[in-house]
Amino acid sequence: MFKRILLKLSGESLAGASKQGIDTERLAEYAEQVKNIARIGVQVGIVIGGGNIFRGLSGAQKGFDRVKGDQMGMLATVINAMALASALEAIGQPVRVLTSIRMEPIGELYSPDKAKRLLNKGIVVILAGGTGAPYFTTDTGSSLRALEIKADVMLKGTRVDGIYTADPEKDPTATKFTEITYDEVIQRGLKVMDITATAMARENGLPIYVFNMDQYGNLEKVINGEQIGTLVKP
Ligand code: UDP
Repeated sequence: MFKRILLKLSGESLAGASKQGIDTERLAEYAEQVKNIARIGVQVGIVIGGGNIFRGLSGAQKGFDRVKGDQMGMLATVINAMALASALEAIGQPVRVLTSIRMEPIGELYSPDKAKRLLNKGIVVILAGGTGAPYFTTDTGSSLRALEIKADVMLKGTRVDGIYTADPEKDPTATKFTEITYDEVIQRGLKVMDITATAMARENGLPIYVFNMDQYGNLEKVINGEQIGTLVKP
């Protein structure tokens, strides 16, 4: 079993059926799934995206300045982090939000040592604000934070149950990989994560497990070693 994980949650998934904003049912499900693994002793660091609220790249296409748009995106991840923290608190799970950009009293400024201290106490730590720098994504933020906090694995929770040869939502003939190498993900141009995030994981030997987080109970299954997704490895 993993001792310490970095869980990446997508902002877009948080929107649930409404495709925008925060779906409270989805939020509560995420919180419960996280609590269920924290309860059995897994240390959980979480990076959450902001795509349900704002993405810098799509902002730039509409005429926003890219850097400002990315900063708006990073703030969006903080909003999601606060929502998830409040959902975890509501069910009695100790949790702390650490932000990549100074913004007390919303959260304390992130440092790897602070995060590890909290994790060692069984407190779930939500690492908000991505990397703090524009032109990155929360996937890259997740690879970075997973390495910084020395997580055993990065679990990428998506709405698809793994990595496929093509987008299974568009191509019905697509087949799923049980395992795949970082190089193959990059060579095949599979859009499971951006290249920066994948390259960072590859260079530092960080395993990534991609699975469907939107199906309740799946997070616990992954922790219990059930092969329900795709492992990306060297
Ligand atoms: N972002 C950024 N730097 C980071 C992480 C995120 O600039 O280190 C911005 C970027 O504009 C991105 C947005 O925040 O589009 C939301 O994050 P992301 O698209 O990764 O969210 P997700 O797709 O997981 O919902």
